[in-house]
Amino acid sequence: MNREDIVMFCVSDIAGKVRGKGFPARDLEKRLEQGVGWTPTNIMITAFSDIADTPWGPRGDLVLVPVRETEVKVDFGDGSAPEHFFLCEVQNTDGTPWECCLRRFLRGALDDLRRETGLRIFSAFEHEFHYDGAEKRLGDAYALDAFRTQGLFASVLLYALRAAGIEPDGFLPEYGAGQYEVTCTPSEGAAAADAAVVLRELAQAAARRFGHRVSFSPLVTGGSATNGVHVHFSLLDGDGRPVAYDPKAPFGLSEIAGRFVAGILKHMPALCALTAASVVSYERLKPNQWSPTCTNLGYRDREACVRICPVPEQPGAEVASRYNLEFRAADGCASPYLVLGALVHAGLEGIRQTLPAPRPTTDDPEKLSPAERAERGIARLPRSLEEALETLERDATACAWFPDALLDAYLRHKRGEIALVRDLDLDAQIERYGEAY
Ligand code: GLU
Ligand code: MG
Repeated sequence: MNREDIVMFCVSDIAGKVRGKGFPARDLEKRLEQGVGWTPTNIMITAFSDIADTPWGPRGDLVLVPVRETEVKVDFGDGSAPEHFFLCEVQNTDGTPWECCLRRFLRGALDDLRRETGLRIFSAFEHEFHYDGAEKRLGDAYALDAFRTQGLFASVLLYALRAAGIEPDGFLPEYGAGQYEVTCTPSEGAAAADAAVVLRELAQAAARRFGHRVSFSPLVTGGSATNGVHVHFSLLDGDGRPVAYDPKAPFGLSEIAGRFVAGILKHMPALCALTAASVVSYERLKPNQWSPTCTNLGYRDREACVRICPVPEQPGAEVASRYNLEFRAADGCASPYLVLGALVHAGLEGIRQTLPAPRPTTDDPEKLSPAERAERGIARLPRSLEEALETLERDATACAWFPDALLDAYLRHKRGEIALVRDLDLDAQIERYGEAY
């Protein structure tokens, strides 16, 4: 069939959805200079497409300006239209950054970290999801047969990631029926969040080529295994040398990385509003689901909020470049820009305040008494999105990381989202989120 190629300029928004506008591919050079028009209220479009209480209404004009290195051009070779899109930053029509641009929020955090400490963050988002094209069989948890039952989806996804400049690191059958996990190699700065956005889109794109879909929602059916997004991170100095590891320090955690983690955990109850950003996110943050319930640093503990990951222990093994921490309180409903930006802001705050490294837990913090938890500086995570939003509003330090307009938009957006599912029972909420993500 005769046809014309189309390019999309997109933005990953508060809902963590990628939305944008397309134009003829032959106009790409011109559009790279000019961008495409956008409007402020688009950031108030919730996951379910209803618009939350918007401060802008129908007024205002913005421009989506492509970040050239985020270009994705993947031809699946099956005759379907190639995926050709760019992620964008949002500017005012006079070329200044829009204060509610989420990628700018992240870049601002990275700039502050660099300027004040000389440090950079090196990270990778690890994604769990459900694929509805896999035959579900009893006993298939982590099974080789569960790899077989998903057919060619994984191979096509890995092809697409590499074609988009994202280096795949792994693909595995997860615990739940139809649940899988995909990982990519770490990148420095904003590129890691860009990769997370692109990875989710390419997973959906690959599934679509088979007439199926994936869901990154934290819960896709009641009682099923939860989908987390785990952010592995380490710190680099100005010369790109890893600085999170100190062989002489307890658990190998260097002083600077200890302060960084302490900042994250101190502000964690507020950060939840950004990292566990949906109503059903709080069905995941419950005991015995291999997801966190408290603000603890755990040594090799998969229910810790921040986990110290294993490293090679053979004598002479090179550890520093492999030493990393894993933030486990995020999921696929959150904006990767807000997640990484919030972690960097909070970590930097820990460095500014010279906070001591948290004492890692090696046991279940749920089993500690409230007094013991308080003595160890461990708090419970919020139990609902509304509680998380209220906690964020009370954390003046965290609020100050945001331009006023962005914080206001975020709170209105999320409260609008809550209102849209408030009257539904849990199964119906899970279904709605499963469809939207
Ligand atoms: N599915 C778990 C989560 O929701 C994580 C399981 C794992 O550690 O791989 O975070
Ligand atoms: Mg996993």
